Amino acid sequence: MEGLNIHPEVAELYPELLEIRRGFHKNPELLFELPKTSAFIIEYLQSLNIEVHTEVGKIGVVGVIRGEGPCILLRADMDALPIEELKESDYKSSNPGAMHACGHDAHMAMLLVAAKVISRHRDKVKGSIKFMFQPAEEGGHGARFMRDDPLYPILDSEPRVDEVYAIHVEPQMKSGDFFCSDKFSSSCCDDFSIEIHGKGGHGSAPFLCIDPVVIASELVLALQTIVPRNINTKYQSVISVCSIKAGETYNAIPDSCILLGTIRTYEKEVREQIIQRATEICEGLGIANNTKITFKIDPGYGAIINDPKCIEKSVDTFKKVSPNAVRYMGYPMYGEDFSYLTDVRPGCFIGLGCNPGERGAVLHSPNFNIDERAMMIGSSWFIQLINDQLCSNEDLI
Ligand SMILES: [Zn+2]
Ligand SMILES: [Zn+2]
Repeated sequence: MEGLNIHPEVAELYPELLEIRRGFHKNPELLFELPKTSAFIIEYLQSLNIEVHTEVGKIGVVGVIRGEGPCILLRADMDALPIEELKESDYKSSNPGAMHACGHDAHMAMLLVAAKVISRHRDKVKGSIKFMFQPAEEGGHGARFMRDDPLYPILDSEPRVDEVYAIHVEPQMKSGDFFCSDKFSSSCCDDFSIEIHGKGGHGSAPFLCIDPVVIASELVLALQTIVPRNINTKYQSVISVCSIKAGETYNAIPDSCILLGTIRTYEKEVREQIIQRATEICEGLGIANNTKITFKIDPGYGAIINDPKCIEKSVDTFKKVSPNAVRYMGYPMYGEDFSYLTDVRPGCFIGLGCNPGERGAVLHSPNFNIDERAMMIGSSWFIQLINDQLCSNEDLI
């Protein structure tokens, strides 16, 4: 943590940053059910005399600082995961079956403290800022609900947003380092389900049945040929069958078999090609086995595509806060609904190194943890973004 340029007011507010993060950590809430979390954020922003919009995208919160000039949106997510926390601490989850295992508690704390510092100096800001606190990042499309809210569409309502930025904790990298991809910051995630309509019967008489277990076995292997044999090797993609359910006992061939899985891609064409091949394989294998196989896709989040100019700004700004930072690149295979914003506005999504030096402290683990000091880097990055883009050199926050 040496050699960093933490904003002095953030350093002073470190106890508050900790208290806010730990408060959220102790009281995790899921998807759109965020009464305590959103109430805390509303009250905090109001105490800063920031204009607040509530119930955006069901329960999202937006703080607005208005000024003449461009408008920048800074985003944090509010929801936790349906995971039982194993890690012991005096701020361990008090809500059984829910845990902030993806660091959204830290995201909220970093953005709130940044809002506090920026709001103290709002007269210096030549432009507008929207502080976005979204629900349901973990699978609920919360960002889309806020983007498409008919009463307050977060990007298009005045002041209209020009650029969007977000930061996500990355406990695999050490504090001070960061991740910033040169293009994709997350993948396109589609879930699928397949139903094989077989014909059940006695396990000793398979010739009288259409055995969905044998068909499922063929199908899993056939699906695995799509990526290596149909997709151009210059593209990264994955198709995984993660669940197979059929039958109850050892001597009865079941009537049907259900398979569940996920497809991860970056480019639209690759996504379409994999879905088309999977559909064809299901149809073909159905015909070959004299039965029907239905393939259903449940479209998930698109890939975040970082804007080249916003990447440059994000990297420059991060290096001002952490001059010795190592920048990690590459295309992650996880999903993130910040893509609903980068689909329609230039933006950038970066990862904040925060390795706590503990085994198993990875994202979505019941032992998830972070080096909390790294939150000072995240808050300072938000402030530095505003300094670099909305403040003149003589008038910095
Ligand atoms: Zn997550
Ligand atoms: Zn997350």
